[in-house]
Amino acid sequence: MIREAIYYSRMAWHYGAYTRMRPPADYRSLLRANTARREERFLELVKPAIFDNPHTPFHHLLRRAGCEFGDLQTMVTAQGLESSLQKLHAAGVYMTNAENKGSPIFRGAFRLEHDPALTRNPASPNGIETFSSGSRSGGLATNASNAYRFYRSHYEKLFMDENVPAGSAIVTMQFTLPAPGGLLFSTFVARHGMRVDKWFASGGPFYYRAATAALVLEGRLLGLPLPMPDYLPQNDYRPAARWIAEAKRQGRSTFLRGNASACTRVAAAARDGGLDIAGTVCEVSGEAITPGKREVYKAVGMRAYPRYVATEVGTLGGGCPHLDGNSVHIYSDSVAAISHRRPAPLLDTEVDSLLLTSTNPLASRVYINLEVDDCGEIGTADCGCLHSQLGYTRVIRDVHSFGKLTGHSTTLVGTDVVRLLESRLPSKFGGAPGDYQLVERQGEAQVEMKLRISPRAGVADIAAVRAYFLDEVRSVFGGALSRREWEHSGNFEVVVAEPLRTRTGKVLSLDLAGLRGRDEA
Ligand SMILES: [Zn+2]
Repeated sequence: MIREAIYYSRMAWHYGAYTRMRPPADYRSLLRANTARREERFLELVKPAIFDNPHTPFHHLLRRAGCEFGDLQTMVTAQGLESSLQKLHAAGVYMTNAENKGSPIFRGAFRLEHDPALTRNPASPNGIETFSSGSRSGGLATNASNAYRFYRSHYEKLFMDENVPAGSAIVTMQFTLPAPGGLLFSTFVARHGMRVDKWFASGGPFYYRAATAALVLEGRLLGLPLPMPDYLPQNDYRPAARWIAEAKRQGRSTFLRGNASACTRVAAAARDGGLDIAGTVCEVSGEAITPGKREVYKAVGMRAYPRYVATEVGTLGGGCPHLDGNSVHIYSDSVAAISHRRPAPLLDTEVDSLLLTSTNPLASRVYINLEVDDCGEIGTADCGCLHSQLGYTRVIRDVHSFGKLTGHSTTLVGTDVVRLLESRLPSKFGGAPGDYQLVERQGEAQVEMKLRISPRAGVADIAAVRAYFLDEVRSVFGGALSRREWEHSGNFEVVVAEPLRTRTGKVLSLDLAGLRGRDEA
């Protein structure tokens, strides 16, 4: 109890300081200038945070590779940042997803025990904590300094200037504490002279609600027009859909912001209730906009743009009207991305796995070539949009997680299973994306798989769902073996039960035992 009191007092302190930060007169000039100087800024970051800091594992990886600061400086100046990062990767300077969770680092005969928390940037003081939502245990809490959070809020302004019609109602579906995203978004909007009209949140324990209310009141006392969260009834997104439809009836379109599953539930509620929310612009993060979700948005005339965030490195990119699918312009003044071709485990397919590098001297954590088990195609786009004008001409197309389902030595590619869960099952048996969830857990003796079907989907015959699901699994890559193993080992079960939520309230169609999650930071 005392620990919580200290924790939230500290948060209230950092939050108070955050509310007093002033937006620059011209954020676009700032972003353009920093993007133009990104290589110098990267060197300004890594000199103190890595080369002069023996705590971070990257210090030792660079030494092992025989790379001194002067060498890196020469290489970046002569060959550019991305090309240098490729060379560093080839020389073993990278960190895998597992290593970032604390697994020892092996490079040939070299072995390093390390603490992932020591990738922290010594020059970026602690601030409000964010948890990576996918991990219920052992999650890496990330402290982002207020300065870094505030800097990243310029990307939000850029996104809104680019994609959201002026005068739109603003609705957020973001989480309440312990995730600070909803509060900080409302604060940022208020700092820019606008206001969030509605904050619809999923329920949480009393103490999180109380802590959230306390910080909203703190912001109000400091003069900011902040909404109190409206807690949605258990698994019922109709109030949000009705609110947006009513705003539309009164002549205001809505800008809706939240994670992909929450926004999809709002769209599905509008579709099922015959509500007109056409023209809603939606910014989604946390998960890829899968084809199943896109169909639901399309059905109600909602335009969805992705925002790509990885908790450890921050906001990576945002969509624009010219990019299709799950594609984003990279905010290259904060992050550099390269990719390497690698097999998706146990499959005949290969993916372009993304490797992310911090380039912003304000970064909370400093990584060189962090692999996050996401893939995508890196390229360039000069679409003439606002992002391009500021110098964000690098893009990642079709970003998605290659998070995999394993167990009994079999593997299914996550995206195939997600399609089955979000499109095929709802269209055959009823319900919407988010109503069917496949949960993988390490049971006592084996990995257990459970298909949870929300009671809301109204499925009467779960044996039929089971038979259909196993048949469909056989047709996807690697599925024949999975199906046989699942049937054989009796580790697959279908139940009518609400899909599980992550610690921060997110519902993932594929809830894997070891999949890293990411959250709105
Ligand atoms: Zn663009």
